[in-house]
Amino acid sequence: MKLFNTLTRKKEYFRPMDGEIVKIYSCGPTVYSSPTIGNLRAYIFTDILKKSLRHIGGFEIYDVINITDVGHLQSDADEGEDKIDEAARKKKITPADIAKQYTDEFIRDTILLNIDVPQIWAPATDYVKEMVQHVRQLEERGFTYITSDGVYYDSSKFADYYKLRGGKSDDRVGSRVDFGEKRNKNDFCLWRFAKPTALQKFDSPWGAGTPGWHIECSAIARKYLGDQFDIHTGGVDHIPIHHTNERAQTQALTKKEMARFWMHNEFIKINGTKMSKSLGNAYTLTNLTDRGYSPLHFRYLCLMTHYRTIMNFTWESLDSAKKSYENLVRQIKKNKVPVDADEFSSALVDDLNTAKAMAALWKATPEQALEFDKVLSLGLKEALEEKFMEIPENVAELVQIRAECKKNREFQKSDQIRDEIKALGYEVLDTSNGPIIQPIR
Ligand code: AMP
Ligand code: ZN
Repeated sequence: MKLFNTLTRKKEYFRPMDGEIVKIYSCGPTVYSSPTIGNLRAYIFTDILKKSLRHIGGFEIYDVINITDVGHLQSDADEGEDKIDEAARKKKITPADIAKQYTDEFIRDTILLNIDVPQIWAPATDYVKEMVQHVRQLEERGFTYITSDGVYYDSSKFADYYKLRGGKSDDRVGSRVDFGEKRNKNDFCLWRFAKPTALQKFDSPWGAGTPGWHIECSAIARKYLGDQFDIHTGGVDHIPIHHTNERAQTQALTKKEMARFWMHNEFIKINGTKMSKSLGNAYTLTNLTDRGYSPLHFRYLCLMTHYRTIMNFTWESLDSAKKSYENLVRQIKKNKVPVDADEFSSALVDDLNTAKAMAALWKATPEQALEFDKVLSLGLKEALEEKFMEIPENVAELVQIRAECKKNREFQKSDQIRDEIKALGYEVLDTSNGPIIQPIR
């Protein structure tokens, strides 16, 4: 299998370190608000990665996802208030309640999207002890210094700091910006002293405070996956700060490359612009299902774009994904000659080319489609069994016209259409969830 490694900026052959089990760490959600469809794309990508490794590579997976319930400030670069604290203050509930609500939402969405549950879900607040220990070790080895704000990592002490983000030191680039008490521009907080207003705080050798955001992943990954593991994933926004800093913290102690492969998914944009709460376009999965789309229509849409390509979301694109999905199911039912299964697997082993794998799926027989769906997880078993898919288009059209008539209280006309549908061999049952259509036996 070939995978694109951000560390080397090229596709490389992948094999797990120990030959059998692939150890994967994925940076998890910050649970201060509902997950956006952008966040969800990141986990659809890792799901495809893991299922390809399992079903095509034949490997076992050992995977960890953290849940950031403390330490992530408003800006990734250590500025502003803790995101969870801020949400708790606004909603007048505890940080723990905020974290629970949005962790539940996140897990619900991943289940709806057929994303496998990881072996380890690690909420950051359960691992503060490990984080403190990690910071202590960095302190003992001279990688830290203390400011009035907290314990900081001295990035100038780690020679390999810039490797993942690419390029050279930018510590001296541009005018001397104000980085306060920090010694170097890229230094970052490992442990933050508690402000009087902080809602969450933990004991530490440096007094009450909260861990920095990056340290949670270093400590959790090291606990479960050891000093070095196979693959580390996240969105591209994590490359310059979060992952660069995780690497620096871990490798300062271990002297080993933390992860052999670093993999990053591109962003979802909305109508070509950034998704943001303030623009009102930070869509959630519920926004999509409220408009009548299934979560799997969204999964289908994601699979049509390579994970390293920016995905531009529009309602039209989702609508065409829905139509394609329905046509795909009809097509698979008609396919009698199997497609060369190699066409499917060779696409995925080439850095997870899902769009190409989907092209093979269109040519698959129903039996093959179920096999391919172990990786793609588009719910094809249920879809292939569903009766409504077999309804001819003219009947479906009449059902829709009849629904319109009923809405306009034209009952005589709607009854007439019911008879027409009957004449075509189908029966309409009205339910509170809309009409159900069944062939008359
Ligand atoms: P967060 O909850 O912000 O910590 O992010 C969770 C994951 O979603 C991270 O891997 C991010 O890089 C990723 N992510 C955030 N926004 C987007 C987006 N618009 N498109 C794709 N991935 C994103
Ligand atoms: Zn992380």
